[in-house]
Amino acid sequence: MAVQNKKGAGEEKLQTVRHSASHIMAEAVRSVFPGVKFGIGPAIDNGFYYDFDLPRAIAPEDLPGLEEKMRELIKSGLVFKRENVTKEEARQLFKDQPYKLELIEDLTEGDISIYRSGDFVDLCAGPHVNSTKEIPADGFKLDKVAGAYWRGSEKNPMLQRIYGLAFGSKIALDEYLALQEEIKKRDHRKIGKDLDLFVFSDLVGKGLPLFTEKGSVIRRELERFVVDEEIKRGYRHVYTPDLANIELYRTSGHYPYYKDTMYPIMKVDEDELMLRPMTCPHHYQLYASRPRSYKELPFRIAELAKQFRYEKSGELTGLLRVRSFCLADSHIICQAEQAVNEINQVLDLIEYAASVLDLNEGRRYRLSMGDRKDEKKYYKDDAAWDYAEDVLRQVLTNRKADFFEASDEAAFYGPKIDIQMKNFAGKEDTVFTVQYDFVGPKRFHLAYRDRDGQEREPIVIHRSSIGAIERTMAFLIEHYAGAFPVWLSPVQVVVIPISDRHVEYARKVEAQLKAANIRVETDDASERMNQKIRQAQLQKVPYMLVVGDREAEAGTVNVRLRTGEQMSSVPMADFETRILDVIHRKALEL
Ligand SMILES: [Zn+2]
Ligand SMILES: [Zn+2]
Repeated sequence: MAVQNKKGAGEEKLQTVRHSASHIMAEAVRSVFPGVKFGIGPAIDNGFYYDFDLPRAIAPEDLPGLEEKMRELIKSGLVFKRENVTKEEARQLFKDQPYKLELIEDLTEGDISIYRSGDFVDLCAGPHVNSTKEIPADGFKLDKVAGAYWRGSEKNPMLQRIYGLAFGSKIALDEYLALQEEIKKRDHRKIGKDLDLFVFSDLVGKGLPLFTEKGSVIRRELERFVVDEEIKRGYRHVYTPDLANIELYRTSGHYPYYKDTMYPIMKVDEDELMLRPMTCPHHYQLYASRPRSYKELPFRIAELAKQFRYEKSGELTGLLRVRSFCLADSHIICQAEQAVNEINQVLDLIEYAASVLDLNEGRRYRLSMGDRKDEKKYYKDDAAWDYAEDVLRQVLTNRKADFFEASDEAAFYGPKIDIQMKNFAGKEDTVFTVQYDFVGPKRFHLAYRDRDGQEREPIVIHRSSIGAIERTMAFLIEHYAGAFPVWLSPVQVVVIPISDRHVEYARKVEAQLKAANIRVETDDASERMNQKIRQAQLQKVPYMLVVGDREAEAGTVNVRLRTGEQMSSVPMADFETRILDVIHRKALEL
């Protein structure tokens, strides 16, 4: 606990340093543009910014000069001095600063302070460092310039915002810059293009990815993996339609409450249809298609279900935020007493899948609960909420899972466990969820005949195992930086003949591996061998098999791994055994 407090204080101090640096930047800008009009200059996550109204546009070339001026000011050891002023004094001080005058009008008399550092005066509540010497002169860097409307409203003038990065030391700044470089390199949109995995077409529509042959290989492997694993664990895998009658969603209660994220209704003959935003009610109809006995419970229905949700165009991000996605979805219909066991098994499956995909880092669980006072947002049934929250908490506690509780995060029909994961850039997101639902069965009159012959109402557990395939692919692309494990690699082997006369043997090798279901290509282009190796390396192909006279004669291959490792004269049978084993185990190593 003490350690955490210390870290908190360090973080606070860093924010003070960052904000103080924004004053110094403002002063540096004023030294170049004496007539500058100042907006505001807060600290942000990685540094600071300040908004300026300037006679000309700032270019990236201007930044080094401003940085130099800032360093000069920092080294001169300016002291920040606070003064309290009246509204009238503030108006006088900032009479040439229209934006500050506007801010002053919103302040409360008796509560107005200014800070002086050298000749620079700013309207500010603070806090600041005592002296500019506390700002590491080599721990900051002016990053970029962007346009920003005054007070965020497009009715106001557009100001120029200069962003600065600021850290406690040069080492910390350099680490941050290196991480940003790596994040850029790993961006799934960039790798998706470089490795030809998916594309977007304006004509098809925004947020609707098209998977290429290679991207489809990855997707198909993921889908096979999850379907096989779920069937092994007692799920009934089904197909249900992507469209549904609007009445289905009126019954479930999704329409009209969630209609902002649904697509408009299509009128077809006498019916009103819509693209489905979720699969649950489809699965309920399968369950309700005939009478069920307690012996059939838990009834686990699963589907790779296409779903359609409206996302604002500004929020669409590669495969992470799309308008049509495929969820590895399931609904487990069971007795309330079976819930603990079922949820445990769901978490087992999720943890197993995440470990196979190597997505274990930074995972934690959020127990997302309702807000009993909000009867509009959450279905009113205190006893049911108590029971369900207790079930989820009990599961997490017994598993000794790393979890925290959050209120007002539940679904309207019950509490849930959100599995939070950090992406490569360190941003935490909900990737999988397990939800406890005591409302759906009521709305759809789901029932089962119990041991004693009585009709009873089951509960439903909604869950995803590997989440939305598109989003999981985005995670995997960034996690592996495109160098997928062999079982997911679109091309697993490239055979490279040393010269034209070795193409025939290369084709033989290719045919033999193909017969064993290995994804293999022969590069028979007329380029030089080294060029072909380079090409395969860039495409992150795990194995390159280089073959020439000696190999053709002996029935061997020279194996070159994407990691750079090499093995010469490996008998074909040995290579085949090795790669099949790696694929079969879904191993991360080659
Ligand atoms: Zn300030
Ligand atoms: Zn559902």
